[in-house]
Amino acid sequence: MKYIGAHVSAAGGVENAPKNAHDIGATAFALFTKNQRRWTAKPLTPENILGFKKACDTYGYHPDQILAHDSYLINLGHPDKEALEKSRNAFVDEMERCEQLGLGSLNFHPGSHLGKIELDTCLATIADSINIALEKTRGVTAVIENTAGQGTNVGFDFSQLAAIINRVHDKTRVGVCIDTCHAFSAGYDLKSEKGFEDTWQTFDTAIGLKYLKGMHLNDSKKEMGSKVDRHESLGLGTLGMEAFERIAKDDRFDNIPLILETPDSSIWASEINQLKGFCKS
Ligand SMILES: [Zn+2]
Ligand SMILES: [Zn+2]
Repeated sequence: MKYIGAHVSAAGGVENAPKNAHDIGATAFALFTKNQRRWTAKPLTPENILGFKKACDTYGYHPDQILAHDSYLINLGHPDKEALEKSRNAFVDEMERCEQLGLGSLNFHPGSHLGKIELDTCLATIADSINIALEKTRGVTAVIENTAGQGTNVGFDFSQLAAIINRVHDKTRVGVCIDTCHAFSAGYDLKSEKGFEDTWQTFDTAIGLKYLKGMHLNDSKKEMGSKVDRHESLGLGTLGMEAFERIAKDDRFDNIPLILETPDSSIWASEINQLKGFCKS
């Protein structure tokens, strides 16, 4: 079964997200459980929690079809001790919110070395941060997203994601989300048929397909290898529609949330519909 959706709005409360997903014909969705541009948020109320669970029930969303996304401010590999502590606390809070909502996975950008520490030190710091969060929470998997490698962001090479996972103690609660735009911008050729196959072979060898817990389906405004993170609507970018058709038809990507983060939300319904069509053909 393919679970296809988008990162929908949770404006007015997390309990509104499932309907927003349903309205665009999504069979999966992503959401922020708090304002993604702020450090702190009010705790979830019983109304938020019960409302969310009820709406998921009403519209037929199981936790396997939902991928929460953390705040953009968090840097789990931060070189400064105090700032790292702030990020770690915020991340635990995000994991706890997922736990309260009955969600199984939280997707996050690994972090940045900010030019102040070695790449390997940054990766080890991220793994330590994950270990701390997993010890303090129950049932939620930490899902690391690959990056485009823009600026000092780490996690653009599959081997870097593997290096983080290798240091995580509880391997049953760590996973990876591959963003197609980020992978392409990082230099993975998802465009050609051979490149697509080679990329997933590389992924399986370096990390292991069993760690793939979700995908972000985005075309890219920039060229392959540009290291620039600019999403484009499906088929309108440098990656092209064929890559998304291949994903839709490939059973390696069954039963995980496949999430659009494309810039024009007014066409999400048609993008989802097109992807669903590929699955059938
Ligand atoms: Zn993404
Ligand atoms: Zn991006």
